Amino acid sequence: MSRLLCDSMLGRLARWLRLLGYDAPALKRIPAQAPPGEFLLTRRKAWQGRPGVVFIAHDRVEDQLSQALADLSLTPEPSRFFSRCLDCNVPVLPLARQDAAGRVPDYILDTAEGFTHCPSCGKVFWPGSHGKRAKERLTATLGQAQGGASGA
Ligand SMILES: [Zn+2]
Repeated sequence: MSRLLCDSMLGRLARWLRLLGYDAPALKRIPAQAPPGEFLLTRRKAWQGRPGVVFIAHDRVEDQLSQALADLSLTPEPSRFFSRCLDCNVPVLPLARQDAAGRVPDYILDTAEGFTHCPSCGKVFWPGSHGKRAKERLTATLGQAQGGASGA
């Protein structure tokens, strides 16, 4: 899967792309050209039309996400959702329940289906830890992006 290099003005978009499982580093200085097989997402209008560059025209992050997916012809794969740390852009790893003890609230430890953790920052995640609202916004945004075509 192609890396999606986001310029620093697109930090929130980068987090949403990570939430979908995309490799989306946010860079203070993005290269002047997209490396082979990678894309540059930027708000710099002057870069519009360069090879591999996606000029993000919108201000709202939901609109930015819809545009990025449409312009890159990306179809998010639900099995990849929540597979990266939103802060570090690193793939999360499975975490055994006994190893999650003390790192999550007790009621979560007992009830969550499973755990993952970020090998970079150590944060622990479980289904729902990104919040119900995030999932709802995500579903709504993806529904728009895909024009309601073929559910599931
Ligand atoms: Zn992390």
